[in-house]
Amino acid sequence: VSAGPLLQFDHSYARELPRLSVPWTAAPVPSPALLVLNEELAGELGLDDEALRTPAGVALLVGAGLPEDARPVAQAYAGHQFGAYQPRLGDGRALLLGELVDRRGQRRDLHLKGSGRTPFARGGDGKAAVGPMLREYVMGEAMHALGVPTSRALAVVATGDQVVRETLLPGAVLARVAASHLRVGTFQYAAAAGDPALVRQLADHAIARHFPDAAEAADPYLEFYRQVVDAQASLVARWMLVGFVHGVMNTDNTTISGETIDYGPCAFIDAYDPAAVFSSIDHGGRYAYRNQPGIAQWNLARLGEVLLPLIDDDVDAAVGAATEVVISFVERYEGYWADGMVAKLGLEAPDASLFRDLLALLHAQHVDFTRFFRTLSSHLRPDHPHRGQARSLFTEPEAFDAWSARWEALLPPDRHAVAAAMDRVNPVYIPRNHVVEDALAAATAGDMAPFHRLVEVVSQPFVEREGLDRYAEPAPAGSRPHVTYCG
Ligand code: AMP
Ligand code: MG
Ligand code: MG
Repeated sequence: VSAGPLLQFDHSYARELPRLSVPWTAAPVPSPALLVLNEELAGELGLDDEALRTPAGVALLVGAGLPEDARPVAQAYAGHQFGAYQPRLGDGRALLLGELVDRRGQRRDLHLKGSGRTPFARGGDGKAAVGPMLREYVMGEAMHALGVPTSRALAVVATGDQVVRETLLPGAVLARVAASHLRVGTFQYAAAAGDPALVRQLADHAIARHFPDAAEAADPYLEFYRQVVDAQASLVARWMLVGFVHGVMNTDNTTISGETIDYGPCAFIDAYDPAAVFSSIDHGGRYAYRNQPGIAQWNLARLGEVLLPLIDDDVDAAVGAATEVVISFVERYEGYWADGMVAKLGLEAPDASLFRDLLALLHAQHVDFTRFFRTLSSHLRPDHPHRGQARSLFTEPEAFDAWSARWEALLPPDRHAVAAAMDRVNPVYIPRNHVVEDALAAATAGDMAPFHRLVEVVSQPFVEREGLDRYAEPAPAGSRPHVTYCG
């Protein structure tokens, strides 16, 4: 099978920004075996999923047998990691294979992770294990189905290699697709080169790719900054509304496009806890659930700093304009979040004290976040078999009753319509931590069935189905707190 008709890459990033990447090729894979292929995504990309399943297709998915004109590169970036600046990070174990134009005309990166050491690898082995790559796959699919902008996995291929972690683990390569892999850290790297022209080229590339209308504005770079700030405010609001904790919100994991990328030690909260942290390395709780909006704003301030020379020749004027934009994050975020809460609660308008009192109640009584919002609509359906389910999640339901009376008084009259609308935005199924761990453990041991089932369930999060209670319920009471690890 010739790669030509299967994949047609463009390379605008490598071509336009040669100083921001290193040409590189994937490490040979001893015995590639396809573990999972995202047929829906392949279809979106105009790729033939049958062909991707052939040996030649699987070879492509690990970066071998590429078309003649392929120009795979390791992308350079810097970044603040847990607040500390690292001037040279980059794709240490990843490669940008190229860009594909999807069926809707959108340009998207096809990127590999676990494809071998690159010049940016530092001490790393360049590899990835099956578990964390499947984790990225299922988390991305769940987020996508929940309506959260995200990179998505196209495939995970087992390499046949062993990866040395705490134990020996089976290796894998993830092929993933994103609107781009431009990060705040990409801009930081460009700025560190000390050549404002390079930052400008990068900004022009990002504008053309993600915010083309900013080019028409009177102040294109300030408008670009505004639009990135807005995209991130919207993104993080969506994370908060589904109870997602990214876990590693370093500036190198913060996209310009406003998509979620770099799923590492991420997790969904179960019992509502603003201080929830899952990552084994986040000792200080810097990236705790409640800190995510503030951290996003901090990361965007780092972007603003490097854009200053493009915003205005007069430093004071540039700082003033950029500051105004970064401050606007708060209002933008709160607006998006409040809109989301309005939808989750079936309201017609935001009510700050209603929201605040609800969250205080969920926190005080350790109520499962996802279950609460989903079951709340049952209170509006007198005929519902599980009417009153949300109330039963509280150990002291009187406090809920008082809140619920206030809530019901604010609802529009057609309660059935309200309940139906709530069920369209409050998921039944999210990737529950214990279920994800079980599926990954089975996959690591060679049984992919639980993983496939999990992906199927979380890919349709809003439609309740028979026999799937296990996917809708929190971990059994008394389970150990969930801890996630970087892969
Ligand atoms: P991450 O925590 O995945 O966002 O990665 C942070 C940085 O570490 C990036 O520069 C990665 O490319 C690099 N990195 C992480 N794991 C490895 C590895 N096993 N080998 C080489 N580089 C790695
Ligand atoms: Mg990477
Ligand atoms: Mg990263």
